[in-house]
Amino acid sequence: MQRTPGGAVSGCYQGLPSRVFMSRVFNAPSAVDLNAEAFGPQWQERLVWQLLLLDGELAHYRISHAETSQQWRAVRSASNASGNVARRLEHEFSLAGRLMPQWALQPLALLTASEGPWLILEDFGAQALQEPAEAALLVDRFLQLAIGAADALAGAHAHGLLHRDIKPCNLLEDADGVVRLGGFGLSVDVRAATALPLADAICGTLAYLSPEQSRRVERHADQRSDLYSLGMTFYEWLAGRLPFEARDAVEWVYCHVARQPPALTHFRGDIPPALSQLVLKLIAKNPDDRYQSALSVRADLGECLRQWRQFRDIADFRPGQCEAHRQPSLSYPGTAALPAEAGLVPRTSVTMLGGRDTLDLSSVMKAAQAMRDESQQDRLIEILMRNTIIHAGAQRALLLLVKNDAPMICAIGQGGEEGLQIELVEQVPGRADLPLSILYRVMRTQQRLVLEDVSADRYFGDDQYLEQHQVRSALCVPLIKQGQVIGVLYLENNLAPGVFTSCHTGVLELLAGQAAVSLETARLHHQLLEENARRQDVENALRSARAKLSQVAQATVMGELAASIAHEINQPLASIVSNAAASLRWLNRETPQVEEALHGLRDIVNDGRRAGEIVKALQTLARQGPHHRRRLLINDVIRHVVALTLVEVEQQKVLMTTHLTRSPLRVYASSVQLQQVILNLILNALDAMSAGDQVLRRLSITSEVVGHEYLVVSVEDTGPGIDSRHMDKLFNAFFTTKDKGMGMGLAICHSIIQAHGGNLYAMPARYGGATFVFTLPVAR
Ligand code: ADP
Repeated sequence: MQRTPGGAVSGCYQGLPSRVFMSRVFNAPSAVDLNAEAFGPQWQERLVWQLLLLDGELAHYRISHAETSQQWRAVRSASNASGNVARRLEHEFSLAGRLMPQWALQPLALLTASEGPWLILEDFGAQALQEPAEAALLVDRFLQLAIGAADALAGAHAHGLLHRDIKPCNLLEDADGVVRLGGFGLSVDVRAATALPLADAICGTLAYLSPEQSRRVERHADQRSDLYSLGMTFYEWLAGRLPFEARDAVEWVYCHVARQPPALTHFRGDIPPALSQLVLKLIAKNPDDRYQSALSVRADLGECLRQWRQFRDIADFRPGQCEAHRQPSLSYPGTAALPAEAGLVPRTSVTMLGGRDTLDLSSVMKAAQAMRDESQQDRLIEILMRNTIIHAGAQRALLLLVKNDAPMICAIGQGGEEGLQIELVEQVPGRADLPLSILYRVMRTQQRLVLEDVSADRYFGDDQYLEQHQVRSALCVPLIKQGQVIGVLYLENNLAPGVFTSCHTGVLELLAGQAAVSLETARLHHQLLEENARRQDVENALRSARAKLSQVAQATVMGELAASIAHEINQPLASIVSNAAASLRWLNRETPQVEEALHGLRDIVNDGRRAGEIVKALQTLARQGPHHRRRLLINDVIRHVVALTLVEVEQQKVLMTTHLTRSPLRVYASSVQLQQVILNLILNALDAMSAGDQVLRRLSITSEVVGHEYLVVSVEDTGPGIDSRHMDKLFNAFFTTKDKGMGMGLAICHSIIQAHGGNLYAMPARYGGATFVFTLPVAR
């Protein structure tokens, strides 16, 4: 390839006449544009360009010569392409001598242009077979194409080439019905050199990529990887869609490694089950379960076509029955010529070149993003578990946390028909949940355990669980914090061996570790919420208990008193008023009728006495009350009221202490009325302390027995104390110094205590506050 002095581009070509002509076609200015102009005035009118397809980073054109009706296929990098595209085109051109016309599209020339190379291929009007994928194929047509594709692939394999990018747009059907392969840019020579290191680049197209090509699985790719991609292609041709959908590279790899493709009959009723089985056999996760060569696929397809043409059915057929053409497994040589690329583009048509680290990084980035964006812990654990499963290519995952030295299952993730389901649980692990032999081994040794092929594992292979669930690959990782196992992550895959490898457990540990931390945070958060809810319940209960108590107080003392006073005193008052009015009239006469007036006044005195008697009677009523009295421990009453007032005490930042007697002596009293007294004294004390600005707010309640005769209860505060001028009015009804006070509290307390045979006193407290003390006689 050389540049001509005039800046024109000249092509490498092979010596056939049409190809010589090609070199002249492209003997044109270097600024190659996507139109005919670029090819100089002599070609401007004569070349017709047609964009055939965009395949990821490659753009395919058809160039036709208007007069001679000759045409070529041209492939160049699309505008978004990276530097690797040039390498791929060069690589494909370098294979020109080995790509046989029977099965491959022939590269004719490689041209350099300022924006990168152009690969010119022969074009006999072949059509890339991606178009049929837009509508599912009829069985007959499918079988024809599939046979052609299998033939072409068998040809490539026979010539020692692994294609590594089999997909519909790299399969082209000529007008004569021959299917040929194109897009050899990622192919490698199976005969050359040593096997590709497992940690090397990932190449292929995500949607068609075999599990081993994804490098998630600890296996080398070989010609069976091409068969997997061929199977995906067949699937797409038949179903009109791929078996999986994914949003990015990590998810694509997960689908290939861990998700079961739905049977084709699921999408189309007219597909013979045998054909569906044939395709599923091609896309088996484990290469050993697939067809072993393109020739055996070809043979089976041939048999299918024969039966279909004869019976319109494929009844007497078992996929793999023609498996005779077993070829030795071939491994990849190195791909030094194809350097890794960092960016991943999540599209089905994209060919990806990237190290396995790229996937790791992508998973970690996703997790980091979730941790940044997700504030709900449950959601976060779900996302982390999901990422872990997808990253690992697991079908099922358990996250266990160690609590009090015992493992506890906290999250279960499982792939199913409706996608991945994550469930947060709290259950003790049993034989039916996971292989306990592995779990305990990992907890004991603090070492991760990878079972690449469970069926071949002598040590753990006979664990009941593994046998029953037909686990193929398993991984168990301890999550360690400060030398302690805080949790365990268990993963399994039943579809293929070798899914989990020691080398990507690092990221799993990170993801699962974060999930464990989130679980712990979630648990604490939950506890806090519960605690708050409980507290709220207690507060509500206290409030309603208080409301009830004050209702009782109202009804029993205030209510009774007020109603009775109103009713009983109204009568004598009315009588007094009318007698007084009558007496005034008698005295106001011209000759005052003194006798009559005296009579009225005597009545007034009587009525007044009566009113006094009524008040006395009411007082006695209040004292004796209808309340049920019993022998009770005064401390029980105190504790009850203290509990009722805890909320207020705390809110007002008051330190409340109690010193209660240990004496078993009891009082004979109404517990409701005593509660009322103590409650009143405590609330008054709180009121007094809330007014002042003293720093120390203390409320101390004591009970003691004096001389086996009396129980003495005191309520002492550190408020401003009682003004000495008010001392003797405190217990009067309606005496208050508060804006909204009623002045009845102490009066009622006083009468209740007196009714119980005791006494209520007020006195200054030791540190300037007030002390209220009441006594009650000990019950005999
Ligand atoms: P109220 O609380 O409606 O005013 P009370 O009969 O319970 O009615 O109290 C009467 C008055 O006694 C109060 O207004 C207040 O001046 C005084 N008092 C009661 N307890 C205390 C106390 N612990 N410290 C200071 N003053 C008090």
